[in-house]
Amino acid sequence: MNIRKLVKKEVSSLKAYNAKEIPCRIKLDANESPYGFSGAVERIAGIRTNRYPDPEAKALKLLIAKDLKIKPENFLFGNGSDELIYYLITTFGGPVLYPVPTFTMYGIICQALGGKKIEVPLDKDFDLDIDRFLLTVRKERPKLIFLSSPNNPTGNCFSAERILKVIEVSRGIVIVDEAYQPFASETGMLPLLADYRNLVIMRTLSKIGLAALRLGFMIAHPEIIGEVNKVRLPFNLNAFSQAVAAAALKRKGEFRASIKTIVSERERLLEEMERIGGILPFPSEANFILFRVSDPARVYTSLLKKGILVRNLNDAVRGCLRVTVGTPKENTAFLRELKKILL
Ligand code: PMP
Repeated sequence: MNIRKLVKKEVSSLKAYNAKEIPCRIKLDANESPYGFSGAVERIAGIRTNRYPDPEAKALKLLIAKDLKIKPENFLFGNGSDELIYYLITTFGGPVLYPVPTFTMYGIICQALGGKKIEVPLDKDFDLDIDRFLLTVRKERPKLIFLSSPNNPTGNCFSAERILKVIEVSRGIVIVDEAYQPFASETGMLPLLADYRNLVIMRTLSKIGLAALRLGFMIAHPEIIGEVNKVRLPFNLNAFSQAVAAAALKRKGEFRASIKTIVSERERLLEEMERIGGILPFPSEANFILFRVSDPARVYTSLLKKGILVRNLNDAVRGCLRVTVGTPKENTAFLRELKKILL
């Protein structure tokens, strides 16, 4: 596959902004102030506030690369994976294909950037409607295909076999958005990266306790990374996020424990919701559960009156609300109020 040919011509002829760090004794190249703010701010993470952050987030990259057993050159960070979606569509343009319902930012960013968006409904099990999807891939030849697996808002993983078919048939790039992978029982698509040059995997730290930092990353062939890097804003990751994430990621035990609790609470929520009459919860591989009720607006408002905020997704998935897994106490409160509303 010739990646270069897929890139928009305006981007193909670009050279990435040169913001490499050059070791030096006296730094006078970047129009920074020599004076920072000593005291509290700098002491938080040993950051010098007057200097630009590391444009390549090297320390953080090495840490995550090692953890996932991926080479650093296969990585690109975004200010959240939202930013990477923006960069991918800026780099390659449309048509952009994705199943619906799914994460809405694919469509929003595509439209904002003037690309053609193509939406194919999921099948009745919320899996890829593979015949229709492949037909559309062959006919429309999308430059980019976004597959959120586990899918937001339905919570299921698409079948690996169907994802593979899409990757094999597509002449464009297939982005498997694995934002919720840490909660899934399947391992995801990372092991396939070496076999498919048009495969991009997107992950985020947002769902595992670090949403405030805005840190997403994509993993792909270095050629794709190089092209997307041309449109990346030079200092897209601030120094505090880099430092806090690096420190936090060293506490692997804490991450594992919170993910384990969330997964077991998700299963408890599902079981209990299945026992409540008048609602249909869908099994989930993510940190939320989609459920159908006969009157979503009433259930949403009644929960909110009790101070419990869920997401009303009636516009995207008929009759459905989405609840995020909280702490055991929060989940119990949610279940209690839900039972009262539906009794
Ligand atoms: N992909 C999916 C499927 C999501 O649900 C979300 C968050 N709602 C994102 C990406 C964006 O995550 P981030 O916080 O990394 O921008």
